[in-house]
Amino acid sequence: MNFIPVSIIYKYLNWRDRHFPMGNILRHTKYVLVFKTTNYCWYRCPHCCECSGPKNPRTFIPARTICSYLDQAHSDQSFSNNVVFTGGEIMSAYRFGPADYVPTLLNHSLDLGIGTDIKTNAAWVRAGFGESILQDLHHVISSHKPYSLQISLSLDRYHKNALENNAAVISRLAKMPNTNVVIHISGFNNHVDMFPALLEQLRSSGHTIDEVLVGDLANMRSLPIVDDQILLHYSKGTLLDGGRARGMEWAHHSDFPQFQFLSADGMSLIAFDSAGRVTLGENSGRKISTKWHTAHGPKSLLYTRVDLVKATWREETRARLLQGWRFNER
Ligand code: SF4
Repeated sequence: MNFIPVSIIYKYLNWRDRHFPMGNILRHTKYVLVFKTTNYCWYRCPHCCECSGPKNPRTFIPARTICSYLDQAHSDQSFSNNVVFTGGEIMSAYRFGPADYVPTLLNHSLDLGIGTDIKTNAAWVRAGFGESILQDLHHVISSHKPYSLQISLSLDRYHKNALENNAAVISRLAKMPNTNVVIHISGFNNHVDMFPALLEQLRSSGHTIDEVLVGDLANMRSLPIVDDQILLHYSKGTLLDGGRARGMEWAHHSDFPQFQFLSADGMSLIAFDSAGRVTLGENSGRKISTKWHTAHGPKSLLYTRVDLVKATWREETRARLLQGWRFNER
């Protein structure tokens, strides 16, 4: 059998990384793991970049698979030590998934010391199973380091009753002892008036809201804190034209979203979904993806990352040949 000399392979890889750098960037940036645990959601918001809804399959990425990926990432130097659990609506596990799905994931991740963020639409707060969710969240939060869990809620006019649901979740958690948690409220540029309205609603229901300084000396900022224990962090973003948001009046069009897989702090987002795909970036536009699930079961995290680098290289080749894309045009 004839072998290609190793020196030629290295020369080829160097040439490829110089002229097609996106795969190289992906290989060398720290990554955040995102698990889109299900594509089911009882809402069907007009702007949903994941096209989630009540008619989508009621299936979840198994908790043992996610825990295994967290264990693999935990011993990987390139892992940013941050994970996001999202959907669809992850809390729908309380309706038809394993009842311990959410606490299993949160406890496993926090026990490993991973910065953990769970995104939810908060609409469960008035449902019959809402009390179980609140009790589980309280148990997870109070049995781990203060402020190691972040709960992310959306505050905009696309999510039905968002203001009332957010206020109810914050209010219920604030009344529980030792609930030191960060609640990240995200909105859109054209709905920023809703955050002051949320603070006002909390005040009028009897909660105290003070300001605390957080961060280090170089990056200090003031955040509202509810009843001395729930830290609120508000951010606003631009609506992107992916999924059902395509063609919406406010949606921002992006010509080459397939290369926008880096977060604002320069980390790559690697998102696993419940259909067995793993994608760079969280939402919008043409995706760079591969499969995390094969006929033999889940691939290892290492092989999944290698396959994503290969897919990125193919995508850059396609964009250059068919659309004349150049790296310095980013
Ligand atoms: S935006 Fe969120 S709440 Fe709305 S349909 Fe999509 S997953 Fe559900």
